[in-house]
Amino acid sequence: MSLDESWFSEPVPEHGTAFSLKIRHKLHEERSAFQKIEVYETETFGNLMVIDGCTMVSTRDNFIYHEMVSHPALFSHPHPRNVLIIGGGDCGTLREVLRHACVETATQVDIDERVTRVSERYFPELCESNGDPRAQLHWQDGIKWVKEAAPGSCDVIIVDSTDPVGPAEGLFSLPFFKDAFRALAPGGLLVQQSESPLLHTKKIIRPLHDTWKEAGFADVRTLHFPQCIYPTGWWTATLACKDAPIRFAREREAENKPFETQYYNADIHRACQATPEFLRRALG
Ligand code: SAM
Repeated sequence: MSLDESWFSEPVPEHGTAFSLKIRHKLHEERSAFQKIEVYETETFGNLMVIDGCTMVSTRDNFIYHEMVSHPALFSHPHPRNVLIIGGGDCGTLREVLRHACVETATQVDIDERVTRVSERYFPELCESNGDPRAQLHWQDGIKWVKEAAPGSCDVIIVDSTDPVGPAEGLFSLPFFKDAFRALAPGGLLVQQSESPLLHTKKIIRPLHDTWKEAGFADVRTLHFPQCIYPTGWWTATLACKDAPIRFAREREAENKPFETQYYNADIHRACQATPEFLRRALG
């Protein structure tokens, strides 16, 4: 039985799964120089952004992803001053990063300016910090940006990209990780969205651990969180420290956050690092 046109579906044929949302109508569709961008108004999840047929952001559940790709890394770093976001064009990650008063610069480098322009229109709440004087928005290939970044210029690099196909493919490659390693200052942290443990352990998560170690990173951990609009509803970010074991450096601050979150807190910070048995085996 197939769903009628009042549903948006993202099928993953190779895994025999699909995620669907009932929609009211399509609000936007364009083909940018890099990808097809669509926005739907849904019945129960607010607006939904889709890039090349893959769900990116919904009004209702984006807070989990955006908080989890930013706060665990930022509270693990003792003094995150300069943060680089690669991708992240919807600006939700940028907003979370800027909640940390210790951040002096937050540089977002997305290849596609159109994603931000569409987000400004349909997800204005995610873009509310774009005018912060600490924020810089650039429209360039993040791979090139990191290659040319001054050595030791970043405390935290967040890779908030699309899946590893098309322009994002190189963001999952050893040369990019070596460049990120070089761009990080001592004690620097790299965090990258790393897809679903149920579907992508062999293809993404395990190779990420291996290539990050090959690039020189001292400690690598995968963080788990729910994200119902992504395939299987179970998602991860993988976190690495350049030259030391990852630690909860600002634990006290996380316990008394000077800003509100909807998902992240100090307990979640500790819990999300627990490794399920099958993943522990897969990671050797
Ligand atoms: N939360 C989302 C997810 O996991 O599905 C990611 C959202 S964010 C919109 C992804 C962004 O990555 C897009 O705006 C896309 O333009 C950007 N992107 C893809 N490849 C890139 C590259 N090589 N350099 C910079 N940005 C890139």
